[in-house]
Amino acid sequence: HMPTAELQALDAAHHMHPFTNNNELEQKGARIITRAKGVTLTDSEGNQILDAMGGLWCVNIGYGREELAEVAARQMRELPFYNTFFQTTHVPVIALSAKLAELAPGDLNHVFYASSGSEANDTNIRMVRTYWAEMGQPERKVIISRKNAYHGSSVGSGSLGGMSGMHAQGGMPIPDIHHIDQPYWYGEGGDSDPEEFGLARARQLEEKIEELGAHCVAAFIAEPIQGAGGVIIPPDSYWPEIQRICDKYGVLLIADEVICGFGRTGNWFGSQTLNIRPDIMTIAKGLSSGYAPIGGSIVSDKIAEVINACEFNHGYTYSGHPVSCAVALENLRILEEEKIVERVAQDTGPYLKEKWQALADHPLVGEARIVGMMGSLALTPHKESRAKFAADAGTAGYICRERCFANSLVMRHVGDRMIISPPLVITKEEIDTLAERAWASLDQAAAKLKE
Ligand code: PLP
Repeated sequence: HMPTAELQALDAAHHMHPFTNNNELEQKGARIITRAKGVTLTDSEGNQILDAMGGLWCVNIGYGREELAEVAARQMRELPFYNTFFQTTHVPVIALSAKLAELAPGDLNHVFYASSGSEANDTNIRMVRTYWAEMGQPERKVIISRKNAYHGSSVGSGSLGGMSGMHAQGGMPIPDIHHIDQPYWYGEGGDSDPEEFGLARARQLEEKIEELGAHCVAAFIAEPIQGAGGVIIPPDSYWPEIQRICDKYGVLLIADEVICGFGRTGNWFGSQTLNIRPDIMTIAKGLSSGYAPIGGSIVSDKIAEVINACEFNHGYTYSGHPVSCAVALENLRILEEEKIVERVAQDTGPYLKEKWQALADHPLVGEARIVGMMGSLALTPHKESRAKFAADAGTAGYICRERCFANSLVMRHVGDRMIISPPLVITKEEIDTLAERAWASLDQAAAKLKE
């Protein structure tokens, strides 16, 4: 019950925020979120804010579901912790693994748990290298990823990621990780045809494999739709070509489904929407709708057979944490029983698409694209040429994000791209509010940019 200013002062004094210039917070004060229900956040001043980011792309079933709180409390009373090391297990992890095997496409039938997407991607690095070593090809170590990708913040997953700002700090990337360009036609395609561009970007994978030698390449990792890079929806030509190349060279395909998974794109997994056949899927976020920390790797029969036959010396204290597993299972039950994924595909998703695409009529918006419930706007001073703002990258996006905040709407900016990833339970009425506030914020940002 402390006043907001006092809480903000304590926060600035003692809390180091991730991905934040913490010194700025001393002057500005962090916004303190105290409660949330559905898609609406309440802050310490009583303001009601529409969260079009679902927290950090994760609160798929929306905030405030009592069922999850009850399941967590019950599980904590019954068995708050037990590990899954050394030939022990427990009921929540068994039930969740079986459910994930049922939901995952193809023969992705085996789950290795972590507490986050970063840890899961670290697991993937070691798992694919161990797989090839066990297969008698230990030189297959290289993992190819993409520039501007985000796969987590640990040293391993941050190395898989292709964010230059991250690589500049703390000695990343680790050896044997290579990056190719992203299929970002709007920003990098110039005058080319989008489909030709998509093919050319996919063929960079083949060129990289040829350059390094296929006998050195273990895997390719990518999100079906790149999220934190700016919701980059690839041209249709891109993924079939990537799949062809992985198949041709026997390179394992890791689909990072941390954002795209659990209904975000209108299917259970983004790989289904984009027609990809991964060997491994990274999962986290929407797996528990953010109610409990949990992540993992869902792997194919082929890989599990090899990994299960050796002792894979890898694991986290909280691999398969019983409370997180119980919460995730309840979250999946709600997604399934309330047909939330189907609604994204057939009802609220198309409605959001219509409203979102209408924002392309705004003078500041060069492109408005969305798949399921992950969307982006490219801000531009000149629609026809798709020009970038001359000022420091991110200025227009930053101004727009601040205007959204002032208008009780959380949208994120990545450079001059505005992005959304709302809870999948957002109603049509709330979608109308989202679109109205976004338009008003764009108007105000445009006025500010003219000053
Ligand atoms: N992979 C993707 C695609 C992500 O977007 C993220 C987080 O945003 C991660 C991995 C890392 O997940 P976590 O923050 O749970 O470690």
